[in-house]
Amino acid sequence: MKQIKSEIIKYAKMLNNKKLSALRSGNISIKYKNGFFITPSGKKYSTLKNSDIVYVGLDGIFDKNYGVPSSEWKFHQDIYLKKKEANAIVHAHSTNATAISAHKKGIPAFHYMVAMAGGKDIKCAKYATFGTRALSKNILVALKNRNACLISNHGQIAFEKNLSKAFELAEEVENISLQYITSLKLGKPKILSNKEMSKVLSKAKNYKRG
Ligand SMILES: [Zn+2]
Repeated sequence: MKQIKSEIIKYAKMLNNKKLSALRSGNISIKYKNGFFITPSGKKYSTLKNSDIVYVGLDGIFDKNYGVPSSEWKFHQDIYLKKKEANAIVHAHSTNATAISAHKKGIPAFHYMVAMAGGKDIKCAKYATFGTRALSKNILVALKNRNACLISNHGQIAFEKNLSKAFELAEEVENISLQYITSLKLGKPKILSNKEMSKVLSKAKNYKRG
């Protein structure tokens, strides 16, 4: 348990240091037994201690005496309930992903690396107020057959089988977002065909297995 809390703190600080999310924005969780450990509400990541990391049951119950979870804990709960393969989640307000999300647009296959999120493009979840069940629902729609998506006027989210992989995926999404914005400055980029993206996806699957 101590190890899980320390790992969350290490990556929460990396949200700041790797410029994925400033100060206390974004949040991180790791699934544990019938619930998950998550970063707390309103604390700067640079000051976090193990005792600040909050446990929330998959039934949504937590003990306030042990701290208050991130105000966005509901979408962590709903992702763990719906996606059995999810063991860790990284949510970030990273600059470039957020900039695209403010246009309520996803990222098309302008680069084959969009396949890292699991499909032929990266979807953008519809807007709903942060922390609401409505936002959870929208995120789950955008995560259909994917393990990362943008969130309209908000940021991005990535899940994986462990925290190091989820964090890396969030970094990839941010990098792809920057490349897409840069490419748009030269006009409309050429999008890879469906057929080509099918090839990329089957190669990516084998690569992951190997
Ligand atoms: Zn957020």
